[in-house]
Amino acid sequence: MKKLSLLLLIICIGLSLQTFAAPVDSIQATDSLTATATQTTTVFNVDSATHQWLSTLNGAAREKSDSYFEGGYVLQVVNLFYGLLVALVFLKLGLGKQMKCIAGKVQNVNLQNLIYVILYFLLAWVLSFPLSVYTDYFREHQYGLSNLTFVDWLIQNLQGLGVGIILGAPMVTFLYVALRKTGQRWWLWGASGSIIFIMFISFLAPVFISPIFNKYEALEEGKLKDEILAMARANDISAENVYRFDASKQTKRVSANVSGFASTTRISLNDNLLNRCTPEEIKAVMGHEMGHYVLNHVYKGVIEFGVLIFIVFALLNWALNKLIATRGAAWGIESISDVAGLPLLAFLISFIFFFATPVTNTMIRTQEMEADQFGLNAAREPDAEAHVDMMLSEYRKVDPGKWEEIFFFDHPSGRVRIETAMKWKAEHLKDCK
Ligand SMILES: [Zn+2]
Repeated sequence: MKKLSLLLLIICIGLSLQTFAAPVDSIQATDSLTATATQTTTVFNVDSATHQWLSTLNGAAREKSDSYFEGGYVLQVVNLFYGLLVALVFLKLGLGKQMKCIAGKVQNVNLQNLIYVILYFLLAWVLSFPLSVYTDYFREHQYGLSNLTFVDWLIQNLQGLGVGIILGAPMVTFLYVALRKTGQRWWLWGASGSIIFIMFISFLAPVFISPIFNKYEALEEGKLKDEILAMARANDISAENVYRFDASKQTKRVSANVSGFASTTRISLNDNLLNRCTPEEIKAVMGHEMGHYVLNHVYKGVIEFGVLIFIVFALLNWALNKLIATRGAAWGIESISDVAGLPLLAFLISFIFFFATPVTNTMIRTQEMEADQFGLNAAREPDAEAHVDMMLSEYRKVDPGKWEEIFFFDHPSGRVRIETAMKWKAEHLKDCK
């Protein structure tokens, strides 16, 4: 789903999925490493153990992983410029003015705004389609990461658009009520409303949104479920909510997540994880996921992103006022509270978040590192953890530079994760099998 085609999906669903649903660990499990790579030395050496694990991804496979991930850096920039072009189609080529005419056929200003917002969502989706079809369909197939046919991909994309409109259009319409009624303080109300909206979506997502895209069912009875539940109880987690979902219909990646908010929080494993990983590896992943829950990452995420959202809205207010004062007449925007400014507002949000990427990535990556450490303590499976980290590295660059990791990584790199696991192992050799 494209950031620029769905404004609200950026600040609401996009952020909520990143922060709260924490789609943390996607793994493409294909090779068959054994956990013996680090067990042959009598004196355990963290550096050489880490190096041994890293050297299991080499040659063409390493190049493919680096190329996929580094291509993502370029795509972020392309996405930003593409978004600027989309905004200019609305503002300079007159598409926005035509939408305003259509919306103007009804009397009520809120209804006018709602119609304009829905038209904007639809047309921005259409204009962004060429880039999204390349990024999300062709490129994923090029790297062997997607299981979707084109028709299935399109259906899912349209479902996403539908959810975006149903949830996002009323939200944006309310934002314009705030813009009209609260004057220059609108951004305070807008930021507060956005945070509440994110919490609301995060609460609804596991129960009402995720099942639109995947089938969720309770994990079947058996040894694995017993072990996961035992691990959950040992960490004081309410033991009922362990689900499996059929991600294999979309992707080859293995994943698990903690999603939801308050009473809808749940832990879910995807079927790729269950089918492709050993019980030890599943436990290593579940330990990490339980870490997110026990360490209250959802609530901390609300606070961290809440602060960021206030800063973003303050900048947005400043930039909107400046631009509308100088370019408003040419772009058909009468004032800051005129819904005709929505394409500009959408672009500015993506522009600000683009430059905030190192900050948002670092906020998420820090939680991921904490969850890794928790997972090592909970599952006590450092080699299984390292193997999973190598699986993840098939599409996430395994050994980036320090600043590259700070700027572009929303999860720790394979090197950092494996070093952490091997340090843990070195200090808990008696606990390891
Ligand atoms: Zn995580």
